Parts: sequence; structure tokens; C-alpha cells
Amino acid sequence: MEKLRNFINGEYVAPIEGKYLDKLSPVTGKKIYELPASTEIDVVKAIQAAQNAFEDWSALKAAERSRILNRVADIIDRRADELAEAESRDVGKTLELAKKLDMPRAALNFRFFASAIMHKQEMATDMDGEAINYVLRQPVGVAGLISPWNLPLYLLSWKIAPALACGNTVVCKPSEFTSKTAFLLGEILNEAGVPKGVCNIVLGQGDPAGSYLVQHPGVPLISFTGGTATGEKIQKLAAPGVKKLSLELGGKNATIIMKDVDIAKIIPSIARASFLNQGEICLCGSKILVQDDIYEEFCTQLAKYVDNMVVGDPMDPKTFMGPIVSKTQYDKVLGMLEIAKKDGGKIIAGGVVPELPGELSGGYFLRPTLIKELTNCSEIHQTEIFGPVVTINSFKYAHEAVKWANNSPYGLSASVWTKNLNQAHKIAADLRVGTVWVNTWLQRDLRVPFGGSKASGLGREGGDLSIDFYTETKTVCIQLK
Ligand code: NAD
Repeated sequence: MEKLRNFINGEYVAPIEGKYLDKLSPVTGKKIYELPASTEIDVVKAIQAAQNAFEDWSALKAAERSRILNRVADIIDRRADELAEAESRDVGKTLELAKKLDMPRAALNFRFFASAIMHKQEMATDMDGEAINYVLRQPVGVAGLISPWNLPLYLLSWKIAPALACGNTVVCKPSEFTSKTAFLLGEILNEAGVPKGVCNIVLGQGDPAGSYLVQHPGVPLISFTGGTATGEKIQKLAAPGVKKLSLELGGKNATIIMKDVDIAKIIPSIARASFLNQGEICLCGSKILVQDDIYEEFCTQLAKYVDNMVVGDPMDPKTFMGPIVSKTQYDKVLGMLEIAKKDGGKIIAGGVVPELPGELSGGYFLRPTLIKELTNCSEIHQTEIFGPVVTINSFKYAHEAVKWANNSPYGLSASVWTKNLNQAHKIAADLRVGTVWVNTWLQRDLRVPFGGSKASGLGREGGDLSIDFYTETKTVCIQLK
């Protein structure tokens, strides 16, 4: 059985206490490898390596850091098929999605920040000839980067790339449910010439490995993507020493559909926004709101489309949805389905475990599920499910849809579908979320702010905002007279 190892100071090393966790395949439920159950000692070794590497890496010219990060991107591209297969086996996402979305984006993250640091300009001001101010931008130190299981390499590289580009060194703690591509990244970093200790990867559970990383006084910056409950814990753990903190957390995103849409045209996009990656994208639209004039027709057409979506082997190109990532998540999603039924929800598509042949019968599969007639106070509408379970409700006026969408502890994103652009502007302005898509979904420009309001997070990343987060600015004021 394959045993993954930690990547510390440029070398693969076994966990010091010699303990391992089992990784089960979401497709079959069988064990596929073991990963280190890292403890505090492993995290300390990684932090020490990152501290030792900091002086040289941060002193390197931006052009040299940029060159190295571009090489990382090139190697990800070269090994994209192998990485995509590893990601698909770990998460249960389709191989096609891993090839089309995850790996190109992982490479782009490195390329984007390799380029961004070459173009960064700083402010200087003239105080009427009496004094001038200029700004120095400097790395923060050792960054602790903690990522979830749904888009493993995509989200981890969204942290590693800007952190390294800005001259920090890092210790990463990827999800214990999906560690394989982070493990393979070590080889890529070495081949690209990333110096020893600049990027360290410690595998294992959130507690102890992640929580110790957050608390260590030698780590002044934490970037975390994951669930809101974990984010709250991290906020407390990071308080002593007042660490820099970025939290990208959960969502319960509304998909608002106005009566003027071309129903047949948008159905595939709405189904994709609901169920891509098994509905395990923080930005998936899990709460569909349709204007009442077209509600029944929309429900009928969407249910028909969803019933035809292929669920099965993620390696099969015909498959749209693979299994849910883990038994824990599977049980949570099935539990939410039971609550929906108890609360009076009417299932109009899915809601059943598909019968799949052979080894697939042991996997964590669920048909994509659409539920009607659940009130907004049902727990289903107030809690993030993070799986292929979506509700659909009607509204009369746009302001009612906005009220419904905003009546949520979360504030990550929403999408609005209409031909009336004036109406779209008004709804977009009224929604209390970090991103609003109009007649599109998941279209990402890496230059724009990304993040959530309310329980969906703290801070924004993307473009200059990521560079701001991974650096400290210093103002120097010089008296001229
Ligand atoms: P999670 O919070 O359970 O785990 C995320 C990471 O935190 C993992 O690496 C885990 O090991 C670690 N962790 C757990 N407890 C910890 C602790 N006490 N201290 C430090 N680290 C700890 O989340 P998950 O189940 O892996 O991911 C799903 C969640 O992530 C969903 O809520 C989803 O919405 C969210 N998410 C958000 C975004 C975003 O950009 N806003 C993107 C993707 C996923």
C-alpha cells in the first residue's frame, strides 16, 4: 500500500511519530493509500525549514522568483494528465473536470502571480516640496496555508503562488481527505528549482497538524479556506500575536431567475451551477429562486435535465457527477436530505442512491437532487450542505428574491439570470455577497476581489489584494527642507 510522506526542506520524510491515516476511495469505499498523521513535531520541523529559507528567498530578485514560479506552472502543465487523474481519484470529481478546470487553474495561479510581481508599482507622494513619502513592500515571513478537499491543488496553489511570489516561505496543510496532488507538488517544486525549505507540505488532520500551525508564534500569517465552523476556531487560535488572517469560508448561494429568461437556453448553465463537482464548490448555487410566472415550467424542465445527468465512474467521459468525497460528507448530505423530507420538501429530481455495478456499489454516490416547497426557515436553507442537493422556490417580485437570498448567515456569491440589465444592476447592488454573476457562473478573473461577507469569510484575495495580504507595506517619509 502506498504511503505518502511530508515534504520538508525539499525532501520527502516520514512523520516523526510514524503514524498514518487511511485514505478511502470515494468511488469504491476501499483504502487506496496511507498519509502521515502528522503531529506538532512534524509541523515544527516544517516551520524551522521555512524560517531558515526565508532570508535567501525574500532577498531574491522578483524576476528570479518569477522565473522559478513560471517553471512550476510549466511542469504542472507537463504533468497535467497525471495530476488530473490523482485529483479525480482523491475527490471523486470527473477526470474531465480535473483536466479542464483544476489543473489549468493550478498552473495559471503560479503564472498569474509570477507575472503580477513583475508589474507591481508602489505609491510615492510629494508634500508640496516639504517632504516625500514612498512605500516599501516586504514579505511577512512564514505563511501557514490551510486548504480544503473540494478543489485541492487549485485552491492550495491559489495560496502558495502569491505567498512565494511576494517573498514569503510557506508551510502548507492540505486536507487529509485529498492529499495526493499536494504530495506530488513536492517533486514539481524540486524540479522547478524552488530552494529547499521555501515550500513545505505537512499532511494530516486539522487537529493537531493544522491547529498547531495556526498557533505557532513563528507563523505570522494564516490563509485558510474551508468550513465556517473551522474558520471560527482558527480565528480564535490566531488571535494571540494578532496574526494576519484570510478566511475563505462556506456559502449558501442563491441562483435568481427572472421571468424574462429563455428557459431552455439557461437550463444547462443552472444545472452546472448547481451540481458541478458534485455540488462541492463553495460557489455552487444551492438555492434556486424562480419568478412565479415561469416557476412550474422551469421546475419541470430543470428536473428533466437533471434526471438525465449521468452519475457514475469519474473516469468515464460520459459521467457528469462522481461520488461525494468521503463517508463523513456522504452521511452529512444524506442526513440533510432526511431533514428536507421531514420539513415537507418535495423531491422533484434525484434523492436516491443510484444502483451502480461492481466496485462502484461501495462508493458514496447520490443522484443530483432538486427539492421544492421548503420554506426559508427550514434548516436546509440556512445551512451549507456542500453536496448535490439543491432547493427550488418561487418569488413574485425581485425585492422578495433579494430578501430571501440575503436571509442567510452566509454571503459568498449569487447569480442572477435576466435579459433586463437594469434589473440585474439593481439586484446585484442589493445582494449582500462577495460576488454576483449575471447570466453566467464561475467565470473568474484572477485580478478581481474574491471572498465572502458575513459567515462566508474575512478579507478578499485576488490580484493586488492577494499581494497586499501576503506583504506588509512600510511608508518612508523624508523631510526635504
Ligand atoms: P474544513 O473546515 O473541515 O477543513 C479545511 C481544512 O482545515 C482542512 O485542511 C482541515 O484539515 C483543516 N482544519 C480542520 N480543523 C482545523 C483546525 N482546528 N485548525 C486548523 N486547521 C483545521 O473544510 P472542508 O470540509 O475541507 O471543506 C469544505 C468547506 O470549505 C465548505 O464549507 C466550503 O464552502 C469551503 N470552501 C470555501 C471556499 C471559498 O473560497 N470560500 C472554497 C472552497 C471550499
